[in-house]
Amino acid sequence: MEDCRSVIAKLTGPLQAELRAGCKDSVISGGCLARYAERWTAEGRRLALLPADQESFATIGRLLADYGEADENGRRQRATQALLLLEALRQGPAGRAASVPRAPRTDTNGQPPAHPALSLQGEGTKEPGQAERGNGSPPHPPLSAEGEGIREPRQAGGGGSPAPPGAQAVLAELDHEFQPPGRGAWAQKLTRLGLRTNRDLLTHFPRQWAPVKYLRQLQDGERALVRVRAVDRVVNQVRIGGRLFLKYGLEVEDDTGRALVVSFEASRGGRARGGWSPLQLKYDKGARLYIEGTVKRFGRFAEIQYLEGGPDRGGLPEPGGLVPIYPLTEGLYQSQLRPAIHRLVERYADLLPETLPAALVSEMRLAPLGWAIRTVHYPTSQADLAAAHRRLAFDEFFDLELALALRKREVQEPGRGYAMPPAPGFMESLQAELPFPLTGAQQRVIAEILADMEADRAMNRLLQGDVGAGKTVVALAAIVNAVRNGYQAALMAPTEILATQHGNLLAEWLMRFGIPCDVLVGALTGKSKQRVRDAIATGQMRVVIGTHALVQEGIAFHRLGLVVIDEQHRFGVVQRAALRDKGQNPDLLVMTATPIPRTLAMTIHGDLDVSILDEMPPGRLPVRTSTLPLPAARRAYEVVRQAVAEGRQAYIVCPLVEESAKLEAEAATRLYEHLRQDVFPDLTVGLVHGRLKAAERKEVMDEFRAGRLQVLCATTVLEVGVDVPNATVMVVHNAERFGLAQLHQLRGRVGRGADQAVCVLLVDPKASPDHYLPNLPEEQLPDGPRRMRVMTRTNDGFEIAEADLRLRGPGEFAGVRQHGLPEFKVADLIEDRDILIEAQQAAQKVVRADPGLTRPEHAGIRERARGILRRIEEYGP
Ligand code: ADP
Ligand code: MG
Repeated sequence: MEDCRSVIAKLTGPLQAELRAGCKDSVISGGCLARYAERWTAEGRRLALLPADQESFATIGRLLADYGEADENGRRQRATQALLLLEALRQGPAGRAASVPRAPRTDTNGQPPAHPALSLQGEGTKEPGQAERGNGSPPHPPLSAEGEGIREPRQAGGGGSPAPPGAQAVLAELDHEFQPPGRGAWAQKLTRLGLRTNRDLLTHFPRQWAPVKYLRQLQDGERALVRVRAVDRVVNQVRIGGRLFLKYGLEVEDDTGRALVVSFEASRGGRARGGWSPLQLKYDKGARLYIEGTVKRFGRFAEIQYLEGGPDRGGLPEPGGLVPIYPLTEGLYQSQLRPAIHRLVERYADLLPETLPAALVSEMRLAPLGWAIRTVHYPTSQADLAAAHRRLAFDEFFDLELALALRKREVQEPGRGYAMPPAPGFMESLQAELPFPLTGAQQRVIAEILADMEADRAMNRLLQGDVGAGKTVVALAAIVNAVRNGYQAALMAPTEILATQHGNLLAEWLMRFGIPCDVLVGALTGKSKQRVRDAIATGQMRVVIGTHALVQEGIAFHRLGLVVIDEQHRFGVVQRAALRDKGQNPDLLVMTATPIPRTLAMTIHGDLDVSILDEMPPGRLPVRTSTLPLPAARRAYEVVRQAVAEGRQAYIVCPLVEESAKLEAEAATRLYEHLRQDVFPDLTVGLVHGRLKAAERKEVMDEFRAGRLQVLCATTVLEVGVDVPNATVMVVHNAERFGLAQLHQLRGRVGRGADQAVCVLLVDPKASPDHYLPNLPEEQLPDGPRRMRVMTRTNDGFEIAEADLRLRGPGEFAGVRQHGLPEFKVADLIEDRDILIEAQQAAQKVVRADPGLTRPEHAGIRERARGILRRIEEYGP
């Protein structure tokens, strides 16, 4: 996931590197710092919330546009100027986009400690005689992290404690459509942010805040908001980085002093544009204004670089307070949202009834809901903010975890599953038929699964194991046990290729146990499909292997006891629910080779028990991975040639073309022709891509598996399940275009035997991490090179998954959206993992104590959890 902060980092890193390297335009190859800057400043403009920040990115882009043409001195000036602007951005809201202080883990005393990260400027500097809050609202309840306020929440009622009398009617308005003041045409823009009702706006939380200050308090470099009177205005010409700018100045004053508000605009012929556009202010002398901007201090004299401003119509905190900076959309301004949301907070926040059971609130030391909502909009201290954030994030996590805990409970109710005890000596008989000794991890995991199968409640287990860890044998053990107990088993894979491969492999193994199986994929003709369907319905067919369509097509089983789902990341809570709703309650084993960070697994798979296969079969060496710029592809081909000379095989992966399978197939064919004719005319080269018919694809794969093809040119159809231990080299073209999960899966195709395998990532020179300083922190690299850095740094699937989650954010990662799970407004899966763990434990505890949530104080949470489950199911498979 990109945010402004990472864009700022992406621009800052290379610029600093340039300065260190003597401004030779050498940090980014081919003399294209200008193009690099063009791309990232455009991204910054897209992401920045404030028009002024967008303008700053534009300015940086213009500043660096002719970087390549300038002499060294000019470059130094441009780089320095750009860095200054970036620094201002970094300190402003754009750069603090992710700086919401997180509620820290409670310490040993059980008190949430104060957040150390960020101290609020302007705090505690109230002028004598000033009201606590200038807008007539009551002061905040006394709640500070050091104090004990949290232990006695003001209104922690029962499960949806009744609101004060008379409040009901007012609270009902929360679900009314939001009515903006005046003509309020801007309200339409809100729908783009998904905001419709008063409640939506009340819970449209800021992610950053700016301090409100007196002019005399302004500090160099900070971003602040001041409430002032207009005095006078001036326009000057100034030179920045060798260019002429118009400097618009507006002198302002408050009771403590004066300052100059400034805004720059590129000079066009040295004439000011009509009006006063950069400041976007219409005012008379003495008019009351508020100005938000970045401060430059020259001794007693302060200059405020204008970001946003307007007439001060009240509703803003007095100096010492903070103003929320809300997520916006094009054409929407803080000046519209702030007063609107302020009115909502004033009207509703203190009336909101507690939504969690009182016991839970006090046990978890949660802040009261209404207080938390008010405080997140208008924090009064860092500690309060952290406590408020913790409360709101906890609510979001708790509701989901409660829903998942309920589901798990329902599914695993004793007596609702099949008891399939393994015969005595099962493990030994299994081992006797296998060509290799089971690893310790395999034995442990198989034992966990057998224990689940033996119990008369349904198994609901996730098996996580990195690529090549040997999950297939584990599935085999479960299937054999189900069949020996007289039940049927089904194995489902996401693609036909994979289903076929599994089919072939498993069929061979099952044969040894005297169990026939059939493969049911789309490629089967109608007639044989019907035959298989019949055999399944009568129970004659014991093991069925197919794609996920098995669930969707509603195939009737005679006695389905076990379902194994492989490569589950496209198979979530919803699909699992669909399986169960067929009136059967088979044991379920979900296998994934895409390791999922624990926090994410707790949301997508919160209803599952987890087994981890954390040991590779013996003798496996980690794949050695390196990057090479594309023009040096010959060197990669040399590696291929050498391996082939030693009797090994190699994969060459074609560039990813996401837009179209057709274009991708064409590109693959071109690369294949090039390899066959120009590079390896003396070797046997094959090609597989997604547009080939299943039969053709199978033919090529069989040839490769049999060793008759030495080099296999392939698209990502290779990604899952291909198992040819003799293949030891993988070359990936334009690796920077692939996602981390994809690269990890691809790389898993080699290193499956005992020999050292290598993976060469061919990258566009511009995306090569080699073009950045070796000590540049990973987070400062653009996404492409950053992924390359991760791949060369580690083979550990979990580490790669964490990096992936950080890069893409949970929404994109592993298709969370496809799972129909709620998206969080406040909570963050990475930053708030401790809160998530607390919430999960709390939810499980509640369900253990009151499985049906029938106690009166649980009515509220039961309703919400049911709602979440309904939504997940409605999402439908
Ligand atoms: P996964 O599905 O977890 O990616 P596989 O089940 O395909 O991994 O196993 C990868 C390879 O390792 C296969 O060739 C398999 O036969 C082999 N293998 C599995 N378990 C063992 C073991 N205990 N010892 C040696 N080789 C094993
Ligand atoms: Mg597998």
